[in-house]
Amino acid sequence: MSLIVQKFGGSSVANADRVRNVARIITETYRKGHSVVVVLSAQGDTTDDLIEKAKEINPRASKREMDMLLATGEQISISLCAMAIEAMGYQVVSLTGWQAGMLTDSGYGGARIKRVRTERVQAELDKNKIVLVAGFQGINKYDDVTTLGRGGSDTSAVALAASLHADLCQIYTDVDGVYTADPRKVTGAYKLDEITYDEMLELASLGAQVLHNRSVEMAKRYNVNLEVLSSLTGNPGTKVKEVVKNMEKSHVSGVAKDKDVARLALIGLADEPGIAFKIFSMLAKHKINVDIILQSIGRTASKDISFTVAQSDMEAAKTLMEENRDILGFDSIEVDDQVAKVSVVGAGMVNNSGVAAKMFEALFSAGININMISTSEIKISVLVAERDADRAVQAIHDRFFSEFSGN
Ligand code: ADP
Ligand code: ASP
Ligand code: MG
Repeated sequence: MSLIVQKFGGSSVANADRVRNVARIITETYRKGHSVVVVLSAQGDTTDDLIEKAKEINPRASKREMDMLLATGEQISISLCAMAIEAMGYQVVSLTGWQAGMLTDSGYGGARIKRVRTERVQAELDKNKIVLVAGFQGINKYDDVTTLGRGGSDTSAVALAASLHADLCQIYTDVDGVYTADPRKVTGAYKLDEITYDEMLELASLGAQVLHNRSVEMAKRYNVNLEVLSSLTGNPGTKVKEVVKNMEKSHVSGVAKDKDVARLALIGLADEPGIAFKIFSMLAKHKINVDIILQSIGRTASKDISFTVAQSDMEAAKTLMEENRDILGFDSIEVDDQVAKVSVVGAGMVNNSGVAAKMFEALFSAGININMISTSEIKISVLVAERDADRAVQAIHDRFFSEFSGN
């Protein structure tokens, strides 16, 4: 007998039929003799709808109250699903994040799980019950409800799987697994049978929302046996693991797009030591994460520095730079949030010098201009105009994968 953690996303529980479908998958697993712990997300667009409701009342609501509100979505799912399972004649209990011992730090809106106190879940499993846990939520040291950030139910599931030493953590969603690119947007994208934690972490961090990036980070750290699959089709999914058997047929495993990017450019900085240090230490002090950085070669004793931040940090970064204009000594500042980051990811690219050239050629052929470039051993990212981003993804995907997709 194994212990299996199953997580179902919002579209998998979107209405009564879908909730019954999920109840069927859960009870089938239970009937095979496994212990089952289930993490559920809020139904369909519930979380977005709740955010809209809050905006109607107070667009500047505190993060604490937002968490109090958003956490309700997942509670609806677990209780409804428990009712469906009860109706099928099984023993079941639903638990909020608090009841399930999901202890987090106090970062409302993006809390991190510090520890899972598994006693209650374990006690319910010992009574042979199916245990349903509300995803995306926990409790902090002030006994306040916290949420883990959008898409965070994946992380709830992996945290439970790691703490309970589960044999398997299955992330059920609305596509058959992890694809070479978003299958809803890119023609020819195909499902990967396996992917490494490192590649999945890059893909998730670079915009492939199929898994919350922190869930992959945690799965890697605790060696959780992770699988992504569809709650709707019953097809085999994608296994996420340390090492994969065949490093796929290509040097790259996927293409991702992230629209949540803004670019700032400081024009006419003095070409002298210490400028970059001043800019980026100021941003770090204000907890603004910087991603891609580009510095022009100093000519005529001045230089420009551009960098990207998350869109939500754009205004704060701009204000900070403007407030320190005298210290930094730039002529002007430009900001642009109509940009997107497009990336190729693949462990196989380390030893293959042609990957960057192939990517740039694909963009050139599609007539797409590159604003910034950043590379690491496992990925290459380019910043392009947002209006070009979907075409860029398709062009790059075609260039790398058309020979494998059968199209
Ligand atoms: P859930 O509600 O189940 O958590 P999400 O919407 O968070 O589902 O994630 C699933 C979606 O991720 C898919 O519907 C798909 O459009 C999108 N997606 C983006 N990139 C990829 C990828 N590389 N592979 C699979 N799905 C992807
Ligand atoms: N319901 C939350 C969201 O929409 C968490 C999740 O779905 O994982 O972000
Ligand atoms: Mg999700």
